[in-house]
Amino acid sequence: MNKRGHVLNAVILAVGLGFVLEPAGDLTTFRTIAAVFVPLVLGALFPDVDTHFGKHRKTLHNLFVLGVVAAYPVFFDNLQWVWLGVVTHYVLDILGTTRGIALFYPLRDEEFGAPVGVSVSSDYSNLMMLVISAFELTVAAGLVYVLPTYLPDLSASLPV
Ligand SMILES: [Zn+2]
Repeated sequence: MNKRGHVLNAVILAVGLGFVLEPAGDLTTFRTIAAVFVPLVLGALFPDVDTHFGKHRKTLHNLFVLGVVAAYPVFFDNLQWVWLGVVTHYVLDILGTTRGIALFYPLRDEEFGAPVGVSVSSDYSNLMMLVISAFELTVAAGLVYVLPTYLPDLSASLPV
């Protein structure tokens, strides 16, 4: 996917995530969109820095880099939501294109993709990005609304 596709995907996710997390459609929804918007776009752009530094779809397109980015909110209390931008970049490259990414680089050079992608220059590239964005928002809604119903209720065991 090209930069335009990654940015549009991140913008769609930011707006959709705002409504998934705060569905009222009021000020809290738009505050949530604002909170996730820039971090998601930055995270979605970050992996392709390896087009200039390192090997493209390898150096910054792997699980090690995702782990480092995801550790920032935990250890430094910053870069919240940037990890999700990186994840969505990986998903778009894996599902939306024909090439895939080297998830286990630098341990392995092998690139992992899915047989459903189109070439980056395809006329269907934008349509693919929209379909994947809808898929990602469906997964996000499932994680927020469906998954908790299958988890044990731990609130009763918490001290009051
Ligand atoms: Zn990429």
